[in-house]
Amino acid sequence: MSLLSMFNLLNVFIRHVSKQNVLGKLQYSSQVLPQFSSEKFNKTRKEFSLVELKDIDYFKKILDKNRVLTEESDVLPFNIDWFKNCRGQSKVVLKPKSAQEVSQILSYCNQRKIAVCPQGGNTGVVGGGVPMFDEVILNLSLMNQIISLDDISGTLVCEAGCILENLDNYVREHELIMPLDLGAKGTCHIGGNVSTNAGGIRLLRYGNLHGSILGVEAVKADGTIVNCLKTLKKDNTGYHLKHLFIGSEGTLGVVTKVAIHCPVKPKSVTVGLFGLHNFENILKLYRSAKSSLGEILSAFEMCDRDALNSSSKYLKQSLPISEYPFYVLVETHGSNETHDEEKLTQFLSKEMESGLVLDGTVTSEPGKMQNIWSFRESIPAADLAGAYLHTYDVSLPQNCYYEIVPLLRERLGNKARVSGFGHIGDGNIHIDVIVPEYSTEVTNLIEPFLFEEVAKRNGSVSAEHGLGCRKPHLIHYSVDETAVQLMRDLKNVMDPNGILNPYKVLPDDGV
Ligand code: FAD
Ligand code: ZN
Repeated sequence: MSLLSMFNLLNVFIRHVSKQNVLGKLQYSSQVLPQFSSEKFNKTRKEFSLVELKDIDYFKKILDKNRVLTEESDVLPFNIDWFKNCRGQSKVVLKPKSAQEVSQILSYCNQRKIAVCPQGGNTGVVGGGVPMFDEVILNLSLMNQIISLDDISGTLVCEAGCILENLDNYVREHELIMPLDLGAKGTCHIGGNVSTNAGGIRLLRYGNLHGSILGVEAVKADGTIVNCLKTLKKDNTGYHLKHLFIGSEGTLGVVTKVAIHCPVKPKSVTVGLFGLHNFENILKLYRSAKSSLGEILSAFEMCDRDALNSSSKYLKQSLPISEYPFYVLVETHGSNETHDEEKLTQFLSKEMESGLVLDGTVTSEPGKMQNIWSFRESIPAADLAGAYLHTYDVSLPQNCYYEIVPLLRERLGNKARVSGFGHIGDGNIHIDVIVPEYSTEVTNLIEPFLFEEVAKRNGSVSAEHGLGCRKPHLIHYSVDETAVQLMRDLKNVMDPNGILNPYKVLPDDGV
């Protein structure tokens, strides 16, 4: 590759990541481009057909020319994931505008045995949304229409490429909210959320997507459009097929439309940030919050000092309370502002008296609440800035939720910085290991140690991010072989040629 084209590629990539507000700091060197995933994960290309000129011509016949990207510099950003961990080698990005176009593309690719990687907002953490080799990237960003909103039942029907935050802004105008919220809301798509069964910060209150998604329309690998786009809360007529598409990470079908139940917008929101001495006190505080705040509790998040210091430095802002070993962020969604703020303030006073909380602040001012949330939500971007980030997403029984963080710190010594933060109510902790640059030595110290420790404690190696291309080999730590076999059988039925998101979710001994 010429120097000029390398320079152009870097510029495009840098513009792309800056636009998505990904990095505080970029190193202008060849290291900016991540290693190819196929090399990093030591994968062998399966026997799919190569994309030829005749295929590009066909795609251009179905889509307008400008919705078929083939210029190397145009395709590059779609080949790299948000966390700069994975890099594919696709030569073409397709941007359909309707389920019919998705159907035509898949039907053709299935006949030609061309592999396809469905892609939403590309904010996934496990590399599922970028190709391993030269899979065609099927990017859903132009399928971004809202179809209907029933503000009595709270049912929103929309296309899969709608950005979560845009949907939330839209339904808020109708006194509703989206039932999920996550740090990537400004970029991730609802179709990506459904395909990863995204959790996020309010799962504690509004439950997971298996509950909120009322129906989906999805396209199977052979191009069949499966219409399960029901908007009913109750519907036991036959198997609940929509669940096959929720959390299957684009390996069983391409989600093109969703119907989702939106809860009523709370009349009052209050947020508190509390400092605590140790993790045991966080658990006691959680138990107390469930009984004291009961029906209004909407989020209960924890961060250790390392995690919050990192985002405070990144945001160049001091925390609203002094420094403590642990922090808890509590949010309430209720219907009476004075009552709710009073309730949370009384809770804080009570727990400061009991000694569980060392210091805290409570607010219902939107700017201040947003400021407190930004410390929590910026942790991944802060840990990623100017460093190499190993990020783990595990769930554990709450009594051993934090145990692995100190174990890792001891094991890694001064080789890495380790921090823990996450959704206490869901038993889901994110463990970040931050090193100046990628090192096999550190990786080997973390893995498989961390997964073995999770398995010993009956946890899950993937709480909310899925398996993507980074974790299929770990499935056996958390799933029984009988269940893995049923997953393979399902994959074979839904996608016998294995063209949909190959190398993802199921281990290599699968399809
Ligand atoms: P992508 O990354 O594009 O794709 C993810 C997977 O879904 C891939 O396997 C892809 O093939 C598949 N896919 C995407 N769209 C479709 C479709 N229409 N049909 C079929 N398959 C499809 N996740 C959480 O669960 N909780 C969090 O709190 C959370 N916080 C985050 C914070 C930050 C700052 C970032 C960067 C990420 C966070 N994530 C979180 C991870 C990520 O945002 C979610 O996994 C999100 O749901 C991915 O959506 P996406 O549109 O970006 O999907
Ligand atoms: Zn999370």
